[in-house]
Amino acid sequence: MGAGFIGCIIMEALAARGVKLSVVEMGDRMVPRMMGPVAGGMIKDWCVAKGVAVHTGARVDAIERDATQVMKVKLSTGAVLEADLVISATGVKPNIGFLQDSGVRCLVGVLTDEHLQTSVPGVYAAGDCAEAFDKVSGKTIVSAIQPNAAEQARVAALNMVGRPTELRGVTQINVLDTLGLISASFGAWDGVPGGEHVEMTDTAAGRHLSLQFGGDRLVGCNAIGWTEHVGVMRGLVEGQVPLGEWKDKLLQDPTLLMQAYLASAQAQHAHAHIRA
Ligand SMILES: Cc1cc2nc3c(=O)[nH]c(=O)nc-3n(C[C@H](O)[C@H](O)[C@H](O)COP(=O)(O)OP(=O)(O)OC[C@H]3O[C@@H](n4cnc5c(N)ncnc54)[C@H](O)[C@@H]3O)c2cc1C
Repeated sequence: MGAGFIGCIIMEALAARGVKLSVVEMGDRMVPRMMGPVAGGMIKDWCVAKGVAVHTGARVDAIERDATQVMKVKLSTGAVLEADLVISATGVKPNIGFLQDSGVRCLVGVLTDEHLQTSVPGVYAAGDCAEAFDKVSGKTIVSAIQPNAAEQARVAALNMVGRPTELRGVTQINVLDTLGLISASFGAWDGVPGGEHVEMTDTAAGRHLSLQFGGDRLVGCNAIGWTEHVGVMRGLVEGQVPLGEWKDKLLQDPTLLMQAYLASAQAQHAHAHIRA
């Protein structure tokens, strides 16, 4: 149950052991919370070609077991799948119920400022439970990945011992290997209001690239098969590098990412040196 990041890596491990797999995902594509329709569809096609039965747009309504010990998994589509093992990988969410009426403000997670302090002075949160303030986007984000847990813990700890430190940003990165198909998702991969978007797909080569811009900056992207550009994508999104004339060039040809990064990031460094 669930074709998110965790479901996909568990699927990979089971497939390596020769298990006959069925995946049930309520979204209309695989990894719907980190991949757009084209990319999520390509991942589904790839898995189907590898022999996995993928049911998208389907919920698990019930799991029943009869005398034979075989489980019957009933889907909202009416289909019934027989299974020896059912794995639930339907997502994580911060367990914040006990904070109700405590004065600690919560949205999706425990709300923190740029110092990782909650609405109650002296109480801090970090990691998967924290909805941390991201200075880059100006929003609070729960982004439950290890680099955020480590960095938020470091910043919270420094503030707790009286060394004022600010969290710069909340990293939103996922790089996923689904039965050998490498996909990546960075930042606001589904775009920002008023932003521009370009995408290209080469189904035969198993490649897809989707770039989202806010002004002349890359705010997010999705990629399949472009592993050599992963560092550049991260650099442009996290660095919020002004692309200037390179934004229009990328709208014409998104594969020029590497050239755009070298030209724009170097320009930024040069300016920084001149200022220094
Ligand atoms: C299958 C899987 C694969 C993942 N793969 C990746 C990956 O490839 N890359 C990546 O960056 N991230 C990955 N993650 C996410 C990463 O593991 C988490 O972001 C990270 O562990 C968060 O650290 P944390 O300290 O906030 O929480 P946790 O690691 O969850 O630690 C919280 C700890 O607190 C304990 N605890 C909970 N409540 C209480 C309580 N009331 N009292 C005392 N103790 C309590 C828990 O038992 C737990 O040990 C993956 C997660 C999973 C589940």
